Amino acid sequence: LMQLSIPLNFIGFVYREIRQGLTDIEQMFDLLDVSAEVTDKPDAKPLEVDQGTVRFHDVRFSYDPERPILKGIDFEIPAGNTVAVVGPSGAGKSTISRLLFRFYDAQSGEITIDGQNVKDVTQKSLRAAIGMVPQDTVLFNDTIAYNIRYGRPDATDEEVRKAAEMAQIGAFIESLPEGYDTMVGERGLKLSGGEKQRVAIARTILKAPPILLLDEATSALDTHTEQEIQAALDTVSRGRTTLVIAHRLSTVINADEIIVLKGGEIAERGRHLALLDAGGLYAEMWNRQREATEAEEALRKARETD
Ligand code: ATP
Repeated sequence: LMQLSIPLNFIGFVYREIRQGLTDIEQMFDLLDVSAEVTDKPDAKPLEVDQGTVRFHDVRFSYDPERPILKGIDFEIPAGNTVAVVGPSGAGKSTISRLLFRFYDAQSGEITIDGQNVKDVTQKSLRAAIGMVPQDTVLFNDTIAYNIRYGRPDATDEEVRKAAEMAQIGAFIESLPEGYDTMVGERGLKLSGGEKQRVAIARTILKAPPILLLDEATSALDTHTEQEIQAALDTVSRGRTTLVIAHRLSTVINADEIIVLKGGEIAERGRHLALLDAGGLYAEMWNRQREATEAEEALRKARETD
């Protein structure tokens, strides 16, 4: 039996590795929307991040030639600052983040990190420098610990635990009967959107990249979850150059600059209060979202008193 079980175990191990490999690749393609068109230049050098200043200079982009999506985008995220991009659905917000991660190349203009064009550096070094918290995190069919440790495979158990705590998901994990060994993903415990996002934040905390790219979930979160996620995001973005594709108001209030995108162009830009005073598109969006939030809260309170 021993003789038989060893090869079987081994086959199981190989199978698991292969399956995991496939899941990783699938996830890469799904999540990262990797396009085969983007390749390293023959003389591509590794990106060298010094301060981590990100700059978009007159960036123009279209997925297909007949339909321009970004029509000359200019902005800078000074090292350590946070810039939030807001705007109506389809304005091109996520496209900006895809170009920074170089899933696609802009047709004209430049995107630089500390003066280096993202087209001139190796994709590997670019993606190592950017921590991405996507809208929908696909979890591996493995333990929660594995999913968090994916950010830095050599992290110790203690570091994994600490990252989970900083991401406001530690207490939740401890409350599970199997704790960090709980299986998650399709065949394990199903986590909510907010829980998955916090796992992604914990992963990013372990990775500790100089630049952060946050694509907030559009789905409505209850106030408590929103506050927890906000606290987690504040922790991870502190001292890091951060670009956030913002759907929630709590993220934008403290941004160093808010860029209001409309139809592929920057319609307005500035800090929260200045934009409110300006009484334009941002003020309109803000008022609409505030009314919606107040209506939701009123409904929730009414239900509670029933
Ligand atoms: P939302 O708030 O709804 O997520 P967004 O501002 O992030 O919207 P983008 O995802 O950047 O918008 O999309 C901008 C436009 O580009 C949309 O009209 C969309 O249909 C189009 N688009 C996005 N991805 C592709 C693609 N892979 N191929 C062709 N068109 C695309």
